[in-house]
Amino acid sequence: MKIIMLGAPGAGKGTQAKMIADKYHVPHISTGDIFRANIKNGTELGMEAKKYMDQGLLVPDELTVKILLDRVGQDDCKEGYVLDGFPRTIPQAEVLDKALANLGESIDYAIDVDVPDENIVERMSGRRACVSCGATYHLKHVPPKKEGICDKCGNELLLRDDDKPDTVLNRLKVYHDQTQPLIQFYGNKGVLKTVDGTQAMEDVFRSIIAILEN
Ligand code: ADP
Ligand code: ADP
Ligand code: ZN
Repeated sequence: MKIIMLGAPGAGKGTQAKMIADKYHVPHISTGDIFRANIKNGTELGMEAKKYMDQGLLVPDELTVKILLDRVGQDDCKEGYVLDGFPRTIPQAEVLDKALANLGESIDYAIDVDVPDENIVERMSGRRACVSCGATYHLKHVPPKKEGICDKCGNELLLRDDDKPDTVLNRLKVYHDQTQPLIQFYGNKGVLKTVDGTQAMEDVFRSIIAILEN
């Protein structure tokens, strides 16, 4: 089962991708998480990616495609995966498509988690992420049991720099310009499914399960 999560930054792709990955025992692959791990470890890739991420811009396709193809080539991806935050441009989607076609494979579902722009700044300014394990919370909608502390691993929760309102507005613009065209791209391939991302987390998940188990 190969699934792509589409949707604006903050729409809930990561939240849903993790739930899908848990239920169906496939890896959750987030290019954003891979970049952030590299930044934390001070790698060359991380330093390069940070230049773009801090401004709310996309990391260049060449760099992003390479790390993604490496990742999906690993053994744990044989039964499928959930991609969260990749592809974000038409060229990225085309490269992935070709790589899969060479293996006689293709994407099964592209799930668009639909949330209007009006809700996005609120979603992102309330997002808090664990510095250690990457778990995500929301001050209002998904609060941790103890303020500022990750339920899963006990480490500190932080507001991502790129979740501050100014950068969020840039990211939304980049989303509309470069990523939204993917909705039509996957629509044309007949694999697009849309869910209402403004519902409660559990209801969004129920809608997704209904699609995957139709
Ligand atoms: P969000 O969860 O808000 O959608 P991500 O964690 O997926 O954000 O991505 C954070 C940042 O990492 C993006 O704003 C972008 O700079 C970079 N990034 C992540 N995935 C990609 C990608 N597929 N192509 C280019 N840049 C990416
Ligand atoms: P994305 O990966 O698309 O950037 P996230 O999954 O990180 O989005 O969610 C963004 C923020 O919104 C997080 O703080 C998350 O806890 C919260 N969130 C996710 N889904 C919902 C939902 N259905 N209702 C309310 N808040 C949500
Ligand atoms: Zn944690």
